[in-house]
Amino acid sequence: MPVERTEQRGADELYKYYEIYDTIGSGGFAKVKLGRHILTGEKVAIKIMNKKDLGDDLPRVKVEIDAMKNLSHQHVCRLYHVIETSTQIFMVLEYCPGGELFDYIIAKDRLSEEETRVFLRQIVSAMAYVHSQGYAHRDLKPENLLIDENHNLKLIDFGLCAKPKGGLEFQLMTCCGSPAYAAPELIQGKAYIGSEADVWSMGVLLFALLCGYLPFDDDNCMVLYRKITRGKYDNPQWLSPGSVLLLNQMMQVDPKRRISVRHLLDHPWVTKDYNSPVEWHSRQPLGHIDEDCITEMAVNMKRSRQSTTALVNEWRYDQTTATYLLLLAKKQRGKPVRLRPERTVCEDSCSPLHQGRQTREVLHLSEDEDAVIVGSLDFCSEYIDDCPWVSVSQYTPQGARGQPDGAANPKDTRLASPSVERRCGYSPTPERGRTTAQQQRQERRCREQEQISENKENVAVQERDVDIFVLPPPRTPASSKKNARANKNVLTTPNQNTNADGAKPNSGTPKGGVSASTEQSQKKAENNESANMEMLAFSPERRSRSLDMAVTGSSGKKKKGGKVFGSLERGLDKMITMLTPSKRRALRDGPRKIKVQYNVTLTSQTNPDQVLNQILSILPDKNIDFTQKGYTLKCRTYGDFGKVTMEFELEVCLLQRPEVVGVRRQRLKGDAWVYKHLVEDILATSRI
Ligand code: ADP
Repeated sequence: MPVERTEQRGADELYKYYEIYDTIGSGGFAKVKLGRHILTGEKVAIKIMNKKDLGDDLPRVKVEIDAMKNLSHQHVCRLYHVIETSTQIFMVLEYCPGGELFDYIIAKDRLSEEETRVFLRQIVSAMAYVHSQGYAHRDLKPENLLIDENHNLKLIDFGLCAKPKGGLEFQLMTCCGSPAYAAPELIQGKAYIGSEADVWSMGVLLFALLCGYLPFDDDNCMVLYRKITRGKYDNPQWLSPGSVLLLNQMMQVDPKRRISVRHLLDHPWVTKDYNSPVEWHSRQPLGHIDEDCITEMAVNMKRSRQSTTALVNEWRYDQTTATYLLLLAKKQRGKPVRLRPERTVCEDSCSPLHQGRQTREVLHLSEDEDAVIVGSLDFCSEYIDDCPWVSVSQYTPQGARGQPDGAANPKDTRLASPSVERRCGYSPTPERGRTTAQQQRQERRCREQEQISENKENVAVQERDVDIFVLPPPRTPASSKKNARANKNVLTTPNQNTNADGAKPNSGTPKGGVSASTEQSQKKAENNESANMEMLAFSPERRSRSLDMAVTGSSGKKKKGGKVFGSLERGLDKMITMLTPSKRRALRDGPRKIKVQYNVTLTSQTNPDQVLNQILSILPDKNIDFTQKGYTLKCRTYGDFGKVTMEFELEVCLLQRPEVVGVRRQRLKGDAWVYKHLVEDILATSRI
């Protein structure tokens, strides 16, 4: 099949089933965007990888996908859908709005022993499960543990995992992972047992949780390796004797003397205050079939329950798998097991499908961060304003915090049948296929109503979640070698075959799949323009100063937006028409008002402009380039060859309680610990 046809079909599949919003993280390989599965209304994370950029690392993606298809656990991020085109791979994943554990640690400096215990139990639970399935993770670190809406941890990033053919007791040779977390035997190039190496990394992680810094750290790799192989670290005085002992047991240089995961499950430190070992069995075993979800899908697909079950049982990680797993996730959260009706309440311009297509016109998924601005939540809120089935005002906050260990709250009746069924006198019994026409009409009306309120909730949550989107980890840089495999489909996911032939004759991306059409470039330029212009419109009195700084950044280097700034003299009118109503509102309204969150630093000041200016004046001294959009500064540092080494946002915002100015931090790219030190330095030097 011609490359562009495959490309088009893959992209069509994505836009057909998902709405795509802001970028919420990026790693060495991937860009991750917030998405919404149209049929269920559930939020998802869409990991987007460009095959060309992956180069020699392409097999890692296959490893990650294969592993995630075989893992289903309450503390492992769930894979829902895989789409592969000739140039890109999309992984649709369970969405974790709470950000990385890393950011949580640094925001709190360090965690108490009690809170650490909650997290460690979840990590041990995930690792015991992963090992039981024959996998070693090999890249365990706080950047690879995300926090979900219930404050529970989810393990991600299985790109470096291994499943030795002869079982986990077989020795591995490849040295991989992040040096600071790597076990001594691994960095010495010895053969090692994956599960033992994971325990060492868990020890380093435990230390980072309790102390807020790493046990072995040095800018010089050789010195770092020496420290790790010696296994000597200092225990700060605040550690309890129990913590010191456990750390010592986990960070034993000799892997044979290191504690095993099995012994961690009921270790006295781990079970303290719980009086029960860690529960590590999966609460969502692979292959489990839920009758309510099947019934709902059968009705929606107009198939028998039997054939729907057979379809789901194929586990193709296509739209069927995604729909089933997302319905199940809804049910587990106590939401109604309902799919959005085929024809939605508002059908034309704001229908989800249409929304997806519109978004698609302005997104360059693979490479263009700036273009995303138009397809972002601002765009979404415009859509909310116009659309009768989404209203922010109706949003009810969801999700009380989970129990330690992610255990179900005994008082939580969320698994009980949804109230709507009672309201409508409708129950999804297996005989549902035989309901009368009248009943079916009633069901549909009922579901539409339900959908209306659900969508209100979902979209509003998106807005709220923007506040806590957090930060990506460093990864092995993608190989610069662009090999010939780039245009080949490498994943043997059956879902490739299931695509409907929906290719549009004239809308394919150019051969090779790089989105470089003239129209797209123009849109990119416009987006840059609108993004940059906002800063100027925002605060007239700050305009000239900010303009100068944003154009040149710290190094005096002319930024790509500089030219655009020059064109501002053409007047602000053009900008105003380009801005969406919601953006205009944002400019008028001043800094965002947000609640205190862990990634917000409180200042003692009450004037946001003053805080902003203090930060602005410090960035050039620190050699940090930046662009400004309202009260948000997107900051970058560059390496010797002009490569972006670090990318993060600082946003000046207003807090409600206490009523002071805060600075929200968000790492987008680069080493987590380097970022921590840099931001601490900026905020300390700004004297805010
Ligand atoms: P890579 O494989 O390129 O390192 P990751 O899988 O680590 O990419 O993802 C990069 C970042 O994107 C993560 O560190 C995290 O901040 C964000 N991210 C990844 N998966 C999710 C998710 N399921 N939900 C929310 N954010 C995510």
